[in-house]
Amino acid sequence: NEVDLSKPDVVRYIVDRFGLRMNKKLGQNFLVNHAVVQSIADAAVLKENDPVLEIGPGIGTLTQALAETGAAVTAVELDTHLLPVLEKTLEHYPNVRVVQGDILRTDILELMGHKPFTVCANLPYYITTPIIMKLLEQRLPVEKLVVMVQREVAQRMTSAPGSKVYGALSVSVQYYTEPHLLFEIPPKAFMPAPEVTSAVVSMDIRKEPAVEVLEEKRFFQVVKIAFSQRRKTFSNTLKAAGLSKEAVTDILNNCGIDGGRRGETMSLDEFACVADAWTRYIR
Ligand code: SAM
Repeated sequence: NEVDLSKPDVVRYIVDRFGLRMNKKLGQNFLVNHAVVQSIADAAVLKENDPVLEIGPGIGTLTQALAETGAAVTAVELDTHLLPVLEKTLEHYPNVRVVQGDILRTDILELMGHKPFTVCANLPYYITTPIIMKLLEQRLPVEKLVVMVQREVAQRMTSAPGSKVYGALSVSVQYYTEPHLLFEIPPKAFMPAPEVTSAVVSMDIRKEPAVEVLEEKRFFQVVKIAFSQRRKTFSNTLKAAGLSKEAVTDILNNCGIDGGRRGETMSLDEFACVADAWTRYIR
């Protein structure tokens, strides 16, 4: 029976004992609510010996909940001040490996031994999008990602075309995964309490991307163009990207898309059609 690292008193004790200063710049808000921690770990659906990657273990709260499932936990923490803490708080879990490093500079495939794994993390909010994009774009052998992010980001990840928050992140996440916004978490579940509400998103990686395209690079280029100038019509953003008036008319006709529409109303299928029409136009 280990000490429960999600208890506010325990977290306070650890912070005092190690003289920790929560580093705001590193997004250090530690969970202090057992039910929340348990729900995040549950969402990862882990079995004994399943490899799981945690990003930013902090003092080891979620790490403990993950370790309790019997999973093989690898936790990457940037802040060297937290290493002696983690060594102590997780000392009775032989199934936990803590690695010091910046997740954005880590060779994750290598770290996880080129084998399938799950990701479960309460992400540092200042680099949420780069981390998610890295995890998705590298085509790692991952089936499921469970991440806690700012509520607004969770909404962007799961929003449909036409929604105010639909954007490049929505398209990327939905291209690679089937995302589900599971639940929201109030600021008071953290120490210190952040200014924003958080939410947990579970992403099931698709076996094949949501849409098939001739050139993936072109697809993401079109997406980027469409959202780069939200006030312009889709047809004008394409022209601004260097396509001739004739090419734009041709491409849009080909896909049955009204050029007067804005990029943020376009579905993944429509982006894919435009990307392919553009690719064919050039070839
Ligand atoms: N998992 C803990 C919890 O839920 O209480 C702490 C989560 S806290 C929101 C984010 C953690 O990510 C912090 O411990 C922070 O030091 C760490 N972190 C920040 N930037 C990082 C990076 N680039 N690579 C790895 N960890 C990072």
